Amino acid sequence: MRQLKYILPVSLLLIFLLWVGIRGGKSGEAVPQDEVIEEAVAVPDTLRLLFAGDVMVHATQYESAWQEGGDSTYNFNPPFTYIQDLIRSADLSIANFEVALGGKPYSGYPLFSSPPEIVDALKDAGFDLLFTANNHAADKGRKGIEGTIEYMRALDLLHTGSFIDSTDRADHYPLLVERNHIRLAFLNYTYGTNGMPVRKPNIINLTDTVQIRADLAKARLSQPDYIITCMHWGYEYHEKEHAEQRRLARFLAENGTQLIIGSHPHVVQPYDEIVTHAGDTVPVIYSLGNLISNQQWRRADGGILFEVILVKNEGQTARISSAYEPFWVNRFNEETQSIYRIIPVNDYRRHAERYDLDDEQRRKINLFDEDTRATLPTLPFSDFYLY
Ligand SMILES: [Zn+2]
Repeated sequence: MRQLKYILPVSLLLIFLLWVGIRGGKSGEAVPQDEVIEEAVAVPDTLRLLFAGDVMVHATQYESAWQEGGDSTYNFNPPFTYIQDLIRSADLSIANFEVALGGKPYSGYPLFSSPPEIVDALKDAGFDLLFTANNHAADKGRKGIEGTIEYMRALDLLHTGSFIDSTDRADHYPLLVERNHIRLAFLNYTYGTNGMPVRKPNIINLTDTVQIRADLAKARLSQPDYIITCMHWGYEYHEKEHAEQRRLARFLAENGTQLIIGSHPHVVQPYDEIVTHAGDTVPVIYSLGNLISNQQWRRADGGILFEVILVKNEGQTARISSAYEPFWVNRFNEETQSIYRIIPVNDYRRHAERYDLDDEQRRKINLFDEDTRATLPTLPFSDFYLY
């Protein structure tokens, strides 16, 4: 009997090794033996997500991005110079795209029509997924809604929140994304569109709890490992979340959302963890602040990258950590042009010499750092810049 006990596990192991060998090789390729043995060790799948806040393109930003020359074009890459390694290091990096690609003439606030090169720059910086349900999505009507979707599709960027028509929505929503064997469902809604009409057949997801409940039920049918909802909500420049945001967060958590990401207030708002009636803990970051904008006043002149690490072990997916990286947007003038650089605050603390800030800029980045720490007292820093 003692010997028999081992026969079954050993044969299972052999079958598993054979299966890994077949699975590990691309068609017809031989898999080196050491690789097979390495894969056979049960390492849990992990997934590192990074969420950024609002991408705004004010007129001074596209004027700054303009490059004179033979093939005159806009180059929005420079602002991301100091944070692109961090953004690229995540398995999936995500931001809220808060302008419309409605064609020329380009315009900033209040009705945004941005040069499409901003999307190229976001992709180059390492972003994989852009949310498009927000109050500026309909700024340029049908041309802007469809122009945004079509440009992102042409670049193979993931996107969700607005749709060409109901077929497009039925086919692509909720957005399912699989990375490292972990399957995610993404949902995205906005409180409104600044009174701009969304004409049929276009759709921009609005915060309609009946619809959201149905969408979450549809998401669950796809058996994702994790359901993430991004809400464009709250009040601009408010340092704390509003009771309405808390009520909606509770609703989302009780209906199956496992992670709630907020945007729109243009300043960082608190982090919380909701415990559902079923006993699940659902993290919510009420607002990530701006990723890039021309808003240069206190608290609006920066934002956070919110990091979430998920792990899947024996079919069960769990969140193992939430953390953040604060960054401050430095705007300065060179001759007649404004220059923008997103500065990671923790790296600035360790290597101030890299950033060449004057006294006033140092005062502003320190103030932003203090304000953000006060807003997020319980959330640890991401360890990306510690080494
Ligand atoms: Zn907004």
